[in-house]
Amino acid sequence: MKIAIASGKGGTGKTTLSTNLASYLSEREQVVLTDLDVEEPNSGLFITAGLVHEEDKFKMVPQWIEDKCTLCGICQRVCNFHAVIQLGQMIMVFPELCHGCYACSELCPEDTLPMIPKKMGKLRHFRKGNLEFIESRLEIGEEQAVPLIKQTHQYIDGNFPKEVIRIYDSPPGTSCPVIEAVKDTDFVILITEPTPFGLHDLKLAVETVKELGKRFGVVINRYGIGNDDVVDYCTGEGIPILAKIPNDRRIAERYSKGQLLYTTIPEVRDELDKIVAHIDKLKKGVSS
Ligand code: SF4
Ligand code: SF4
Repeated sequence: MKIAIASGKGGTGKTTLSTNLASYLSEREQVVLTDLDVEEPNSGLFITAGLVHEEDKFKMVPQWIEDKCTLCGICQRVCNFHAVIQLGQMIMVFPELCHGCYACSELCPEDTLPMIPKKMGKLRHFRKGNLEFIESRLEIGEEQAVPLIKQTHQYIDGNFPKEVIRIYDSPPGTSCPVIEAVKDTDFVILITEPTPFGLHDLKLAVETVKELGKRFGVVINRYGIGNDDVVDYCTGEGIPILAKIPNDRRIAERYSKGQLLYTTIPEVRDELDKIVAHIDKLKKGVSS
């Protein structure tokens, strides 16, 4: 059972929901929580767990070998990402822009662009009781989140049986990183807030998950502010609202101290119970 927690924009409560839901579920079963917001992972601020493993992650990028190059220009023409360009008598490679597609390397007639590994980030694996917490973090200056997200999925697939529930704290937005985070999941929880901005970005997120053919539901965070437009939209579109996390000063206070919410705020625990009940129903559907 793979569940992605996503949102059309940052700051709506993805990490709050991911960490609280994963910790709550881990009170009864093994859970893998993964922070796939690799450009700025912050689930670890709320999870206190012991480090059990860490490893550097690499991507393959071309390296120019000057002596054999005939400056034919093929590499520049075939790169869709402007990661390799010809400047006068030089071929310049920009590893941060490279998607590691191998096109320039494979099509170079002189074999002067061999692919070499370049460190792109680090994966850390923590454990606390039933809770396995994986965090991947891009190197500073590294622009490509997708390869690291892909390798993080591979680490999880290689280390945990598929029966174990997996929760992915996804990157914000609707671009390539969130697609990579969400595309192989069984269910997506879209978290939003009841404001015009929240509704606007929720609609974009809904279009994205529909395009991917995913089942999904909505959690409304800071319920009580704004207006009813998000509720009306979900009702009109037949989108299930899984929970409504209230707008509550205690939540902001706990959050600012890096604390989990459900342990001390019963209203949050009640809403998590509703989400867990939905997950249990889904699990029966997935396993049957
Ligand atoms: S394709 Fe190969 S030979 Fe042609 S310019 Fe690029 S590196 Fe040089
Ligand atoms: S490997 Fe692909 S993305 Fe990277 S420089 Fe070559 S053509 Fe461009």
